[in-house]
Amino acid sequence: MMTRPADEARDFRMDETRLERAVHEILAGIGADPDDPRLRETPARAATMYAELFGGMHVDAGQFLADPLPEDHRDLIALRDIEVRSMCEHHLVPMVGVAHVAYIPDGKIVGFDRIVRVVDTLARRPQVQERLTGEIADTIERHLEPAGVAVMLILEQMCMTIRGERQARSRTVTSAYRGLFVAEPDWRAEFRFATRQPEEWNERTGREF
Ligand code: ZN
Repeated sequence: MMTRPADEARDFRMDETRLERAVHEILAGIGADPDDPRLRETPARAATMYAELFGGMHVDAGQFLADPLPEDHRDLIALRDIEVRSMCEHHLVPMVGVAHVAYIPDGKIVGFDRIVRVVDTLARRPQVQERLTGEIADTIERHLEPAGVAVMLILEQMCMTIRGERQARSRTVTSAYRGLFVAEPDWRAEFRFATRQPEEWNERTGREF
């Protein structure tokens, strides 16, 4: 019998002892004294932090879309500037920024908080931005069955801003479109207008947001 993700989630417990040992080793590896009183609590604190940052492991993100509400709205529903905190799987350093998520319902909607939970759950795993973007779109498409989904992520990749090329001001933008957003450019234009940066929006609408 196949194991479903939800069953695995119930069985899984974050192994904080192992995380602590690993952080202890990093300290020793860089030549610091892990037994120095100033560093003694660091492995335990860092283990708790990793458990939080990777809290989306083994959690089924689709569960948050399980009980949609019937609704006849057949136009754009967009959430702008959902905070994203994720970890690059190549270096285990943060990638942080915002997600814009929109869908065109086909008879069903969900609470806005549910969309945020989907984004947050998928982000709190070792990720690359490209895959995270697609996974958000696919999860919404599969579980909410809307007429279209659009996702855009604008992130600071710390493996590029604090190390390596050290491009401190660079931001990475990725998008994923499904359904009507693929078929009809007008819907993509609507999505881009709805998720514009506030200054441009304010100028265009003459209102403050
Ligand atoms: Zn990286």
